[in-house]
Amino acid sequence: MDESNASTGIISDVCACPQCGLPAQLDEYYIIGEERIVCEWCGYAHTKSHQGTEANKGYGSIHYMSTKEEEVEITIPLKYPMSLTERHQIIMLIENCYDKDKSFFCVWDDEANQLDFLIGKKPQTTNEYYEQKALEVQRQWLMEDKFSLSNYSDNLND
Ligand SMILES: [Zn+2]
Repeated sequence: MDESNASTGIISDVCACPQCGLPAQLDEYYIIGEERIVCEWCGYAHTKSHQGTEANKGYGSIHYMSTKEEEVEITIPLKYPMSLTERHQIIMLIENCYDKDKSFFCVWDDEANQLDFLIGKKPQTTNEYYEQKALEVQRQWLMEDKFSLSNYSDNLND
C-alpha cells in the first residue's frame, strides 16, 4: 500500500523483507530520519535510526483466519523457534478451528535459510513479483512486435 501522510511524517511502502524476501511493511519516518521494517511473514523487524540499527530476527508467524461469515484475521509473530510438538499443535488447532485454506503457518528454517509454509501456500517474493512484471512487459513488446511485423507483411502482399 502506498500511503503518505504529511501530518505524521510517515511514508509507508512495501519492500522485500531482508530476511525472507516476502513483501514487508516499510515505514519511513522522514522527519526524525527513522526507517522501520516489519515482516508479517517471518516476523523480522528492524528500526534504522541515527543511533544505528536495531533488528529482531523472525522465527515465523501464525495467521488464523476464522471460518465465520465475518472474517477475522489474527497474525501472531513467533518469538522463538517452535519445537516439532508445538508445530503439530498449531497445525491441529488451525485444521480444527479455523479456515485452513485461508490460514497461514510458517516457520523459519535456519539451516536452509528459508521460510517453510506448514499451512498455506508461500506467496510470491517481492523479487518474483518484479520478475513476473518484467516478463509481462516483455511479452507485451513481443506481441506488439508481431503485430507490427504482420502489418508489414500485409503491406508486402498488397
Ligand atoms: Zn520476512
